[in-house]
Amino acid sequence: MEDYLPYGRQHLDEDDYQAVLSVLHGKWLTQGKTVEQFEQSLIDYCGSRYAVACSSGTAALHILMLALCVKPGDEVITTPITFASSANCVRFCGGIPVFADIEPQTASIDVAEIEQKITSKTVGIIAVHLTGNPCDMEKIQRLAQKHNLWLVEDACHALGAEYQHKRIGSCEYSRAAVFSFHPVKHITTGEGGAILTNDQNLAERMERLRTHGIIQHCDPKIRKEKPWLYQMVELGYNYRITDIQCALGISQLKKLDGFLVRRREIAAEYDKMFAGMEGIKPLGITPGGNPAYHLYVLRLDFKRFGLSRGELMNTLSQQHKIITQVHYIQVYRHPYYQELLGDIQLPQAEEYYKSCLSIPIFPAMAPGDPTRFFEALTKTLGIVSG
Ligand SMILES: *Cc1c(COP(=O)(O)O)cnc(C)c1O
Repeated sequence: MEDYLPYGRQHLDEDDYQAVLSVLHGKWLTQGKTVEQFEQSLIDYCGSRYAVACSSGTAALHILMLALCVKPGDEVITTPITFASSANCVRFCGGIPVFADIEPQTASIDVAEIEQKITSKTVGIIAVHLTGNPCDMEKIQRLAQKHNLWLVEDACHALGAEYQHKRIGSCEYSRAAVFSFHPVKHITTGEGGAILTNDQNLAERMERLRTHGIIQHCDPKIRKEKPWLYQMVELGYNYRITDIQCALGISQLKKLDGFLVRRREIAAEYDKMFAGMEGIKPLGITPGGNPAYHLYVLRLDFKRFGLSRGELMNTLSQQHKIITQVHYIQVYRHPYYQELLGDIQLPQAEEYYKSCLSIPIFPAMAPGDPTRFFEALTKTLGIVSG
């Protein structure tokens, strides 16, 4: 696989290895100080008041839904163009994800479509910053306030992105934002995730849910008499992240700004290459947004080029060793959700799904790689360039 050009890949250096080794040589592999240090680094970077790091982005979404008291039958509105976790977290609590159609330029959730889906059972909205391009948070927040709904961000693509000059994760427009540190995301801890929030009660509740719903005994007097006592006050999970992972997270976060510079350079190169091309169009950007480019998505008119997406992907991989991907199949199309919700078809989501293709973008890409991709693509599509 060495000479393959994937759509995304992690980037680790010697100082990352050393950071992990130093924890391995220490006393605490888990539940030590490195977890708090990583949380503080996330707070400092994003500008929120609290951070709760946990075992994955999905676990983070789960405890966030629990802390927001999502109950069986509650409806939560989200986008169909996302990873399944954005909806699954609602199901973990017995709630019903309701899919609102997307806005065609950016493929992000359409604010007008959200409003159409609000019922008496709706409790909240999960906005997803697809590819790292921020949603129109100001408008979504206004809608949420009007209908008395909570609003949270699935920001798993958006570490380092900005909306109206504020970092995503500062929670300027939301109750909380969730990140993932899976290797394909901006920074990695192997597996891992975090929730950022400015809400102290929410943060404390999530800390408790992350570790079995257990706290020290509430009464300090009893705690003094019986120092071994702890109490499980609600049903929680073991969703802890280890100190080993957090050491990697801290050293990766130090490099994030450099990673973002490189991602934005590559995106600008692609923007220039595809500008004005017939039948190929990059995904649009939200006004006021400074995307983090977790992904770079092209919209392709396959009919025009006389070949299918499968044929293009196979040729790119077999003849050019370039791996592309589709983000995403509509969540409501998965058999599980079809069985749960019946047959759903949202016109803009259907259109988007037919045409999208994620192309290589990651910090460790070689300087010639965007051109290598462009030449392979135009050759396969039969476009005469130059
Ligand atoms: C990666 C991702 C998740 C889940 O994160 P994990 O850490 O893999 O559990 C959730 N939502 C979106 C949009 C993602 O891209």
